[in-house]
Amino acid sequence: MTQPIEHVARMAPYALAYLDAPAGKRLVSLSQNESLRPPSPVVAEAIRAASTHPHLYPDPDWTNLRQALADHHDLDAAQILCGNGSLDLIGCLARCFLSPEVAALAPAHAYPFFATATRMTGARFDVAVEKDLCVDIDALLEAVRPDTKVVFVANPGNPTGTRIPRSDLIRLHEDLPDNVILVIDEAYGEFADHLNETMFDFVNRDNTLVLRTFSKAYGLAGLRVGWGYFPAEIAAQMRKVMNPNNMALAGQLAARAAMEDQAYMRDTVAQTIAHRDNFITRMRRLGLHVPDSFTNFALLQFASPDRAAQVDLALRKEGVFLRPQGGAGLPDCLRATVGVADDLDLAAHLIEAALQEAGVS
Ligand SMILES: *Cc1c(COP(=O)(O)O)cnc(C)c1O
Repeated sequence: MTQPIEHVARMAPYALAYLDAPAGKRLVSLSQNESLRPPSPVVAEAIRAASTHPHLYPDPDWTNLRQALADHHDLDAAQILCGNGSLDLIGCLARCFLSPEVAALAPAHAYPFFATATRMTGARFDVAVEKDLCVDIDALLEAVRPDTKVVFVANPGNPTGTRIPRSDLIRLHEDLPDNVILVIDEAYGEFADHLNETMFDFVNRDNTLVLRTFSKAYGLAGLRVGWGYFPAEIAAQMRKVMNPNNMALAGQLAARAAMEDQAYMRDTVAQTIAHRDNFITRMRRLGLHVPDSFTNFALLQFASPDRAAQVDLALRKEGVFLRPQGGAGLPDCLRATVGVADDLDLAAHLIEAALQEAGVS
């Protein structure tokens, strides 16, 4: 069979969530950081509106959605790009700026798609150690090499759930060489908005861009809507490598409608935070290490990779799926998405039982 280019042949397939409940068990997925409830009812209306003209191409400039985002976040619409999920934008960025001659850098427990997008281009992917599951700015700066072209951070982080204080990001930005692009992925930004630490204002300092998504707090994961705020020069390059009709009509209309119901999104966030903090308290009482989370999930750290695997298996047998984190360099951890109270309760109960079985608590 014809061989793909060498660096593609070397890549491992992206580790997707495994979601196959045993016969007779209800599937409880707490594995993909999806919203704990469907989006605002105005979104369903918008999807119905999209159903009247699916034979027409969508607006390739996402005009209405972009304007709504610009108005809400007080940004320049011309510097906003929308994507088929923010993964689409991460891929475009890698195609523009990475090649086998250069490298990208990220914290050791960063979102695994940063590595995937980098390797797709043949570029080297470097990592910097983290401290107590938090991004260590000094370690990141020390890991910068002459050929480092892009630095990826997610804030708050996935799978750690921890956040980088704005003062640290300012220092990172100031100390990076001028030709290095800093990507700040704020997929969970809405869960930390009360801290009022968004970085959109950084984008005008050049070589920095901020990504967001409708997949998490807005509950549109299935419609694939991501966006970002870019320096004009970077946006112009991204446009060249982008699928020119990247976002389907339904996604554009739905995201635009979701923007108009901020109260609903804020309520989703408040419910999520309340459930999350209860769950974390419960997990800590079992003796697990759980860092404070600023997202819609909790990272559970067990005594060993074996213990994490044992608990994962016990839950799977009951149809409950958390996400193992070996791919993010944390084989002793499982990530639990904050779901509805009953599902979280079931997960907590099963984790406790599995630990008891192992003679731990
Ligand atoms: C979920 C997630 C994304 C992907 O978002 P989509 O918009 O659904 O593609 C990107 N970055 C991080 C850190 C995420 O957790």
